[in-house]
Amino acid sequence: MPDENCIFCKIIAGEIPSTRVFEDENCVAFNDLHPQAPAHILIIPRLHIDSLDKARFEDKETVGHLLLTAAEIARESGFAENGYRVVINTNSDGGQTVFHLHIHLLGGREFVFPPG
Ligand code: AMP
Ligand code: ZN
Repeated sequence: MPDENCIFCKIIAGEIPSTRVFEDENCVAFNDLHPQAPAHILIIPRLHIDSLDKARFEDKETVGHLLLTAAEIARESGFAENGYRVVINTNSDGGQTVFHLHIHLLGGREFVFPPG
């Protein structure tokens, strides 16, 4: 169920503008407003889930769909072979600021590990 205070639910509904790069019946992908790499795409489920911490095993198809969609977008965007980073910031210590589950897909440059 959409959360009326959630900016990502508003992006899904088209109430907040975004640059969509992909969408299907389960998810929407759009460019991050503050890109941290040449390619920085957020992949979100149409179903509002607060965070990975709140996802349950009944959400496994949704979460799997997000991950495989990230991989597909990386291939279609041409940076899969060089490599990329997927990130799911979770709760406060994880640096999560928007509480609608999302995968960051970052590509187009080299990344260090561990991240900061
Ligand atoms: P996180 O810190 O993991 O919760 O990531 C939230 C991400 O959402 C950040 O990278 C923000 O730059 C991004 N963001 C916030 N508002 C918007 C927006 N309206 N359109 C696109 N990206 C956004
Ligand atoms: Zn939401």
